[in-house]
Amino acid sequence: MSLPASADVVVVGSGVTGAATAAAVAARGATVVLLDKEDGPAREASGRAQGSLRVQGRHGAELRLAEEALRLWTEAAADGDFELVTGGNLYLLTRPEELARLRALVAEAHRAGLTGVELLDADATREVMPSATGPLLGAMCSPGDAHCHPRKGTELYARRARAAGAHPAYGVKAVRLLAAGARITGVDTTEGSIRAGAVVVAAGIWTPHLARTVGLSVPIMPVVMSELETEPAEPLFAQSIRAFGFGAVQRPNGKLIVSAGLNARVAHGVSLADLHGLRYWLPRALAFRRNLRLSVDLARIAHQVRTRSTLSPEHVPHVSPEPPCDRPLVDSALARLASVVPALRGVAVSRYWGGVVDMTPDGLPIIDGGAGPSGLTLVTGLCGHGFTLGPVLGEIAADLATEGRTARDIEEFRLARFAEGPVPQPEMTI
Ligand SMILES: Cc1cc2nc3c(=O)[nH]c(=O)nc-3n(C[C@H](O)[C@H](O)[C@H](O)COP(=O)(O)OP(=O)(O)OC[C@H]3O[C@@H](n4cnc5c(N)ncnc54)[C@H](O)[C@@H]3O)c2cc1C
Repeated sequence: MSLPASADVVVVGSGVTGAATAAAVAARGATVVLLDKEDGPAREASGRAQGSLRVQGRHGAELRLAEEALRLWTEAAADGDFELVTGGNLYLLTRPEELARLRALVAEAHRAGLTGVELLDADATREVMPSATGPLLGAMCSPGDAHCHPRKGTELYARRARAAGAHPAYGVKAVRLLAAGARITGVDTTEGSIRAGAVVVAAGIWTPHLARTVGLSVPIMPVVMSELETEPAEPLFAQSIRAFGFGAVQRPNGKLIVSAGLNARVAHGVSLADLHGLRYWLPRALAFRRNLRLSVDLARIAHQVRTRSTLSPEHVPHVSPEPPCDRPLVDSALARLASVVPALRGVAVSRYWGGVVDMTPDGLPIIDGGAGPSGLTLVTGLCGHGFTLGPVLGEIAADLATEGRTARDIEEFRLARFAEGPVPQPEMTI
């Protein structure tokens, strides 16, 4: 793999965030190298996501960004097919005690100006989703939301980057950020160094390892979320569905992708890396103990002991293995979905998989161009719902890398918030 000796911008990571960043940087006429340790784009979270492009149900600080991202996804469909379906998003209400949470989310959306978000009663829900003939009480509805095939969506941005002149470099791992004084000067990789005036680290769960090489502490806990895919079924709903206990989309080919929905159980392998954010994670692990499956990651601990480090790019695998799926969890999610959509009873499962999510202590992303040496931008901590945001994160990272500032409001996403005092705990795991 021959790498350019220099570029205006190096982007580390070719998930949706990095691919969209490289496309936006190249579109502005700057030279950009897009690195990924894997053999192509979307090999980690971005390729394992469900693909729901959901605006509603987010923290107020993210709502406007999600709205802009959805517009960008819709425009991107003119450039290629990534199975975009604009069918809306429904948070199904199946138990009375869930109503208060949905009311709060609707109020938050209205405060942010998203007046299209509304609560529907059971009859109105069945009007927009006629296949939901099983028991349900209503839904929170955002009619303009969408879903897509996440690997194809990411590949579209990687293609756009290349077409605009970006240099993709797959199978190349970034091993160190280079800085001179207070400025970033490039990246060391497994294939040599690249000099650059700006570096965007969009390395998902591995961001803390690279950030550490310039002395930054980035509190990310990797947790595994599970999904299943069914055999094709008749067309049942165009919305992406979310509820306590299940979530689903139906792709244009009839297959359903099913997850465990809101506040799902997630898994985490404990290792010495957890010592870094113990003061954030211990209270959170205790509060979410019913939804967090902990195991001890002995292989990782042995590697950490051997290399005498808890966080280091040496610990980042060249090819990340697919994590195990929590099959009982997603099987029960499918059963719950089938109780609301009885036409799904007996549908066969064709595939199970897991994917790793980059959690932050407060459930909000880290988007920061001023945390470390100048010229360094970090985008991580997308907490299991960052696929939607990809295109707007790309624009923001390109703003920060090429101009040093962005007009979008990213104040709440600064890395420094964790050092400034206790951050609020999110109400749900995912
Ligand atoms: C099971 C699951 C379901 C999800 N469902 C949804 C959903 O429906 N809707 C939604 O909005 N979000 C969803 N998400 C979240 C979403 O997938 C992520 O927030 C988003 O894809 C993150 O994109 P990213 O580009 O930041 O990270 P990633 O896609 O993880 O990409 C990071 C890239 O960096 C590369 N990399 C890391 N370290 C290095 C290095 N040192 N050198 C070179 N390359 C490196 C990796 O190989 C990887 O390709 C889901 C996540 C999972 C796991």
